Amino acid sequence: MSIFQVLTKKPPVRKKPRNPNSSRTVRQTANGRQYIHKMSSRARSFRLTVNSSGEPVVTTPNRFNQNQLEAFVTAQEPWIKHHQQLALSKKNFLESATEIRIFDKLYQKKIQIDPYRPSQVSLGANQTLQITVPEPGDQTTKKVLERFLTQTAESYIISRVQILAKRMNLDYTKVKFGQHKSQWGSCHRNGTLTFNWRLVHAPTKVIDYVLIHELAHRVHHDHSPSFWRLVEQFDSEYTQHRNWLKRHGVSEG
Ligand SMILES: [Zn+2]
Repeated sequence: MSIFQVLTKKPPVRKKPRNPNSSRTVRQTANGRQYIHKMSSRARSFRLTVNSSGEPVVTTPNRFNQNQLEAFVTAQEPWIKHHQQLALSKKNFLESATEIRIFDKLYQKKIQIDPYRPSQVSLGANQTLQITVPEPGDQTTKKVLERFLTQTAESYIISRVQILAKRMNLDYTKVKFGQHKSQWGSCHRNGTLTFNWRLVHAPTKVIDYVLIHELAHRVHHDHSPSFWRLVEQFDSEYTQHRNWLKRHGVSEG
């Protein structure tokens, strides 16, 4: 029985009305902030968003004042930075083509082809993740990287759950790993804890929360107020950590 279920939420299908009057230009402010400028006959004022790639997009009416636009973008710099970080952390929750989040850090992927060396993955200086493969190909790289991520997640979680169980004065029989995308962890009545190795992409505090959550199910087999009190005793910021999981496109079931 799975008690802690986090389900992948499908974004609602939204039909975008095509706007034949909109145009798209890449502009830059005097202090170097690049942004995408769109003009729309429907726009009544300046509107700022950050797209999923982290690029700021400003929509203006067709007639606008260039100086006002520049002042608007410059004034929104803190907002842009904040939302860029959000967009990128969301994107990198699993991984993008070039970047990958492992626990608390973002790494740049560097792929090296070397037919004379065995496949390997290592964390290098300057937050790089060096992937060496004998031949080019997305499938080979994906396989090698996935093996590395699974092993990294497993060895971290196995030792971490021991520490947390001791702290909570609780026991478990064994730890298993799965890769169900819909579930971060579960606690079986026989004492087996199952975790998703994709937790490797979550901050360590969030991983702690998932581990504490499953361990707490060793006492309370539900999500009753006493269950949450026990969780809170060992993770006072658990609501934030649950929100992190929600913000990254998942929700608890
Ligand atoms: Zn639960």
